[in-house]
Amino acid sequence: MENNQYPFVNLPLPYNYNALEPYIDAKTMEVHHDKHLQGYINNLNQVLKGYQGLQLLTLEQLIENADRLPKGLQAPIRNYAGGVYNHRVYFDGMEPPTDQKPRGKLMEMINSQYGSLQSFKDVFKKEAQGVFGAGYAWLVYDKGKLKILSTPNQNSPIEQGFCPIFNIDVWEHAYYLKHLNERGDYIDDWFNVVNWDMANQNYLNCIRRYY
Ligand code: MN
Repeated sequence: MENNQYPFVNLPLPYNYNALEPYIDAKTMEVHHDKHLQGYINNLNQVLKGYQGLQLLTLEQLIENADRLPKGLQAPIRNYAGGVYNHRVYFDGMEPPTDQKPRGKLMEMINSQYGSLQSFKDVFKKEAQGVFGAGYAWLVYDKGKLKILSTPNQNSPIEQGFCPIFNIDVWEHAYYLKHLNERGDYIDDWFNVVNWDMANQNYLNCIRRYY
């Protein structure tokens, strides 16, 4: 991940705000990236300002070590470092809609574990639908297998040692302008802009890192 240490900056999106239309609208993308993610970046920098030791840690290390930090720092680091990390996974995990079918090793694993891409999507959607309040649904790699899970708020699965492949942000700010309260419609739309090549690359990196 680029810009992985203090001071954190809000890297530009790898596509235009309107590039995910008609599935995710330009205004949502602009506010989500320029306001929400920017807020997490600012807050994280603010917290780290007084702790030179922590400034040497990567974003991942901050999250992975959150439970070893002084009590008063645990929640802010979990929320703000998590908020930066999770949003970067989310934004990097999307691309303008294409007709290209997902392929590669990840797709082979999805087929072997879930039967088909469609049944995988059904299980993933159910998980994302089931997040109570704000949070994320994730596809992660764990001990040789794929795993679908969800996290509340800005908690991140790397804190539990899982290796993320992609996520969907199901905080209302991710979809409310276009989809109002219809989270299911947003999830269906989001499937059209998943960057499957990036997901496949992340999957391969996970395998390499853990074996
Ligand atoms: Mn968000």
